Amino acid sequence: MVSDQRLQDCRAHIDSLLNIKGHAGLRKTSYPSRSLNFLGRQEVHPFHQKLPRNESDALTDEQAKVLLDIIIVGAGLGGLATSIALRRRGHKVTVFEKAEKLDEVGAGIQIPPNSSRLLLKWGLGPYLTPKAHEPTAIKMRRWQDGSIIGLTQLVPDFQDLFHAPYFVVHRGNLQLAMYQRALDLGVDVRVNKGVGGYELDGEVGTKAGVVLEDGSVHYADLIVAADGVKSEARKVVFGGEDQAPRRTGFAAYRAMVDTEEMRKHPQVSWLLENPGQNLWLGEMRHVMTYTVAGGSAFNMVLSHPEDSDPSTWNQDTAIQEMKQHFAGWDPRLTKIINMIKSTLKWPLLSGEPLSTWLHPSSKLVIIGDAAHAMVPYMSSGAAMAVEDGAALAEILCLITSPQDLPRALKVFERVRILRAGQIQEASLVNGKIWHFADGAEQRARDESMREEVAGRMGEESANQWSDRVTMEWVYGYDAEREVAVAWEDDAREKPRP
Ligand SMILES: Cc1cc2nc3c(=O)[nH]c(=O)nc-3n(C[C@H](O)[C@H](O)[C@H](O)COP(=O)(O)OP(=O)(O)OC[C@H]3O[C@@H](n4cnc5c(N)ncnc54)[C@H](O)[C@@H]3O)c2cc1C
Repeated sequence: MVSDQRLQDCRAHIDSLLNIKGHAGLRKTSYPSRSLNFLGRQEVHPFHQKLPRNESDALTDEQAKVLLDIIIVGAGLGGLATSIALRRRGHKVTVFEKAEKLDEVGAGIQIPPNSSRLLLKWGLGPYLTPKAHEPTAIKMRRWQDGSIIGLTQLVPDFQDLFHAPYFVVHRGNLQLAMYQRALDLGVDVRVNKGVGGYELDGEVGTKAGVVLEDGSVHYADLIVAADGVKSEARKVVFGGEDQAPRRTGFAAYRAMVDTEEMRKHPQVSWLLENPGQNLWLGEMRHVMTYTVAGGSAFNMVLSHPEDSDPSTWNQDTAIQEMKQHFAGWDPRLTKIINMIKSTLKWPLLSGEPLSTWLHPSSKLVIIGDAAHAMVPYMSSGAAMAVEDGAALAEILCLITSPQDLPRALKVFERVRILRAGQIQEASLVNGKIWHFADGAEQRARDESMREEVAGRMGEESANQWSDRVTMEWVYGYDAEREVAVAWEDDAREKPRP
């Protein structure tokens, strides 16, 4: 079980962010940030560690000393990333995916540098970069007229600071790039193979099994379940009781607009000239946009309040509802919204740090959305799953005997539960910062971003992409190094026999 003051603070903050309506739930963050200084609610945090580029790379190409047979459940972004990370270290990896094929489902996805740095190091460059886009900047815009109120320069600033690009890509392209890379590395990916159960009762040191829906049983030294937000494995970890993520009172419409259509209208075509991310902020709502698919599609995520049960939603009326939610916003934005031909309404869920990701047998561990679902406001759900994979591969590389496995997994979960929990927290915090009604707090927020809009990068900002302390903590994080350091610390505290 994980116990740490920061984790307790993180849980308490997530609880208050989820349970207290409006902005009263905002408190001092458990993670390093100065983004709430404009509200007078944050202490000054020191800068986070800065990544020396080559030192971090040097840690990562080692082959594992104990080669394991590993089964991964789910070929989503988390499962595939983890399969690549583990296979590179020499483990035998089999992935079981219940879908019949890996389709181009989903919409746009952002790949921040803490994730792209790992993906590029794993050899995904040639598979991914032809399909990915590097936006030059993130522009926050006022809901009413689209005027710029916040500005994060991604090119060249993020490259210079974090030694890796900030990509945007269609989720389907990212998944297929990972799939192809995994196959080329020798991962055995089997689709149309749903996992229906687990066999974890054997003694310590014996193999664990997954029972497929076709009745066959497959054994391995370790099972990694990346089976998504509705995870069945999570229930198994908790002995049949689920600790499912909660509804947040928000939902998002996801949509793609044809950029050919946009180019015909000068009122909106300028958004395609210098491709970047544009984010309109207003009371209880925001709209995130960027181009994907080689510039042929304009991706939109429109977040809005929604308390009702997703099972009661009618997707056929979603477009009409969406237009009503954003009526009266910047006419350029509503012009694009009017071009949307179809949309899908997604519930926005958030978990809080779970007490464990590990089954008591130490033979099953959950990762990705199964372990840490979050609202997409830091664009970091998949990035956390990639970090999970990197951290797991690193720690399994450090063990020198199979008996070390339970201990390594404990260290892994301790590090990852805190990191993913704090990103869950930061994502909810963004929702609060972005959703002020016009008034004193909104003006204080916009004032704190004034310098960056004028092109002068300040030290602190309500924009968590620009706030130096927050950005160095989010994007300068080295998932491999953090677990390696924790493994060493653990050995010092509890010497291994
Ligand atoms: C609106 C929105 C925008 C987002 N934007 C971003 C973003 O910009 N950047 C970012 O990093 N993240 C973003 N995310 C989050 C990101 O999409 C998820 O965090 C990520 O896809 C989680 O990956 P995963 O592998 O854990 O789960 P999933 O991608 O859901 O994959 C789970 C897989 O497991 C399979 N599966 C389930 N059960 C079984 C079973 N029993 N047997 C076999 N297979 C099974 C499923 O078929 C699926 O393929 C966004 C999310 C939303 C909702």
